[in-house]
This record gives sequence, C-alpha cells and structure tokens, in this order.
Amino acid sequence: MLIPQSIYELRDGLESGAFSATDVITHFLTIIKEKNPEINAFIDVYHDEALRMAAAVDEARKSGTHVSALAGIPFGIKENMHFKGKPTTCCSNILNGFIAPFDCTAVRQCLDAGLIPLGKLNMDEFAMGSSCEYSAYGPTKNPWDLSVVPGGSSGGSAAAVAAGMVPLALGSDTGGSIRQPASFCGISGFKPSYGTVSRYGLVAFASSLDQIGPMGWSVADIAAGMSVLHAHDPLDSTSENVEKPDYEAALTGSIKGVKVGVPDGLINDHFHPDVVARFEESLDTLKSLGAEIVPVKFEYFDAALSAYYILAPAEASANLERYDGVRFGYRSPDAKNLKEMIIKSRSEGFGDEVKRRIIMGTFVLSSGYYDAYYLQGLKVRSKVIEAFKDVFSSVDVMALPTAPSPAFRLNENSSNPMAMYLSDIATIPVNLAGLPGLSVPAGFSSDGLPVGIQFVGNAFDDTRVLNVGHAFQTVTDFHTKRPGVQEAG
Ligand code: GLN
Repeated sequence: MLIPQSIYELRDGLESGAFSATDVITHFLTIIKEKNPEINAFIDVYHDEALRMAAAVDEARKSGTHVSALAGIPFGIKENMHFKGKPTTCCSNILNGFIAPFDCTAVRQCLDAGLIPLGKLNMDEFAMGSSCEYSAYGPTKNPWDLSVVPGGSSGGSAAAVAAGMVPLALGSDTGGSIRQPASFCGISGFKPSYGTVSRYGLVAFASSLDQIGPMGWSVADIAAGMSVLHAHDPLDSTSENVEKPDYEAALTGSIKGVKVGVPDGLINDHFHPDVVARFEESLDTLKSLGAEIVPVKFEYFDAALSAYYILAPAEASANLERYDGVRFGYRSPDAKNLKEMIIKSRSEGFGDEVKRRIIMGTFVLSSGYYDAYYLQGLKVRSKVIEAFKDVFSSVDVMALPTAPSPAFRLNENSSNPMAMYLSDIATIPVNLAGLPGLSVPAGFSSDGLPVGIQFVGNAFDDTRVLNVGHAFQTVTDFHTKRPGVQEAG
C-alpha cells in the first residue's frame, strides 16, 4: 500500500478509508526502523503507544465517533519539548533521568488534533548549535549524504522529515534552528512570528528569541502544522492574542504584484557560489510568477550576529542557572558538600558549547561589563527592529539565502565556534525582531546537497510569507525530491 507523505493526502486517504491510521503509523515506524540506525534522528521511538493510539483512531472512525480531520497522522517532537511521562533531556547529560511532568502546549495542540507522536528527535544540547553534533546522543547525519551534518539545532527534526520517517516535526528556532536545518536537509521549515505558538513546556534557551514551529516537506504541510499550533496560551505570558488566520485558505499560490525585497549587505565572498546561483535563479522564478524584485537596504547582518551572541548567552546563563544538581536530572555522585555538588553536577552535566554560552552570558551580565556588552546588544537589537520596519514599509516580504553554504561535513566546524556561529548570519536578525521566517528548498549544490531560500515577513504577516513559499513550490519541484540514503564517504 502506498502511503503518501503530504499531510493533506494523508488526511484525505484517512477520511476516505483508502488506508487506516494503523497502516499509516506502521508505514512510518517501518521507515524509522530501517533508516534511523544510520541517521540517528529519533532518540526515542514510541512504537507501542503510537500503534495503540492509531488503533483507537481507527476504532473511533469505524464506530462513527467524530474524530478531527488530522487524526491518525504522525508527528515528531524535538527533545526540548515536554511530553508528559517521557524523558525530556534537551540532549544533555544534565537532564539525564528527568521525566516531563506535563505536556508542552504545542505538543498538546497536536495531540488534541489527533496527531500521533512517534517519538523524540535529536538536537544540539539545549538547542545551542548549528549542526546537531553537540548532542549527548551523538550526531544526527544528513539523509542526503551521511558524511555531512543535517544542520541544527533541530537537525533530528529536519533529518527525520527528509528521510521520510515522519511527515511533520516540531522544531524550535532561537537564531535559525528550524530554517538552517530545513535548508541543509531539503525540506520546508517555518519560524512563526514570536508569540504565535506557545513556548510553554519548551525548555528555555533564550526566552525572548525562542519560537516553536513546524517542519515538513512542503509549505502546504507547514500550513497544516500552523493551523494546529497557532493558539493563544494564558500559560505563556509572551503568547499573543492575535486572530488565527485560515492558514490553508491563505495559500492561494498567487503572488502577482507582491514586492520581494532583496537586502544588500549580506551576500559576500563567504557565500558558497552554488548558494548564490540558486538564490538568483529563485528570484527569476519569483519574477516569472509576477512578483516584483526590489533591492532594499539592510546593513545589520554582522551587527545582529554579534548582538545575538551577547543576548542569547545572557538569557541562557540565567535560564540554565536552575540546573544545580538539586532539582532536575543529573547529580554528581561523589561531592562532599553542597557547593561541590553544584559545581561538579554542572561541570559533569553540561557539554562544552553550553558551558561556553554560560560563561559568555555570565560575563556580559556582570557588573562593569553589562553596559559595555549587554546594553550595547540591546541597542543593536532595537536598530535591527527599526531596519526591518523600514524594509517592510516598502516591500511585502524579504528574500535571502537561508544559510551561506550547503551542509558542511561532520567535524568540519565542531571545534571552530566562530565558523559554526556564522552559519546563522542570515537567520538571526529575524529572531531579534520576532518576525516570521520560512526556508524552502531552492535546488541543489553541484555535490547534490540541498540549498534553501528564506522568506521573511513583517510581524504577524505569517500567511503572506507562507503564500510566497507556496507559490514558489507550485512551479518548482525541489521539495518533492527524496534523498536515497548513500554510504558515508
Ligand atoms: N545556531 C544558533 C545558536 O547556536 C541558533 C540556535 C537555535 O536557533 N536554537 O545559538
């Protein structure tokens, strides 16, 4: 039986009875069993529970009980989101043994819509990273080429979708962690406007930047995900009470007359020539759809990157202070007193990159340096917000490459933090301003690795951004290409 990957096709097939929820779940579990051992996207699979939930959906459909339209469709959960009763480790040793006491709202929204969780997905420790190599569970590999990274931090989510293990995955994006891995893995990934999707139950990295969003093969799948995830949540004080748009209806595919701004000051010699070539071809595609390409001024890419690496570690150092060996997860077994217990638990529990962020964050917040670094970072953030406002006073969306290069090789950047940080140069400003950002596949490098294009919109103009991505996908087929899993080499 042929089980489709697209969410709307899955929905239609389930509704018409072409296949059952059990068929669907069995199909995806089989692919996980086949492909996950070499890709390492899932770190926990809810095999029996998923089949039980599928049987319940089938039973309800058979007996004529009302079930929601998406009931029986599987999804994957990034390991920094709580699913009650299951471990949440953020792929860190410090949370070893911690069991989620409640459901993350985004996960709960999916469960309430009848979606079935297949398991937890690998990520960089505490979502700090761009390659999915900084995980206590070992790296995830890119299904297009096992010798390159899937991007990060939501690398497990991106690789699982790309390999066909799950049609929809939840990711989180603080500086690019949904969009950059989507670009590296040849799928679509969306960071909604800040406040659109609740952060309740998402383990905090940098609270003013973190945002949950959906990852799938197509923008249509993203829209299906957003129609489930978008909700006002009183449990998250930063959740916005904005009217929920009709995400599906917004995908008209028409972008005639839409003004697409292309920023100066981003593309330079550090950008891979294949990325630049695919970007330019994509602009031609947009033009052929009737969009107008307009050069716009935006000179804050470098400054935004620097500001992010002050502000995000500052917030992280405060958020991660709670892991003290007393309340959550890991406690060092051989400490002689309280102080030693805290020091040893943190030293043994956190990985190097997380420690680096805690040290940087503590430094920039310390008296004497607060004004010089943290306050300066906040000022740059205001400038970035203003610059975007200017841009969106003259264009509808902005288009830019998602990342400066296709996926890099495993270990290539893992001991070079600066090189790793630079891979988010095009995504980070979007988080600083809380805007919606979408990455969609825009073609391939000469080595056959996927390359993405990013569309950014004004705050809460999420559906316009999605419609531009969707229109692009009505005339391109990059998002339908599937990796054949090859040998590492
Ligand atoms: N790569 C960036 C960082 O390490 C962004 C991470 C993210 O978006 N979670 O901070």
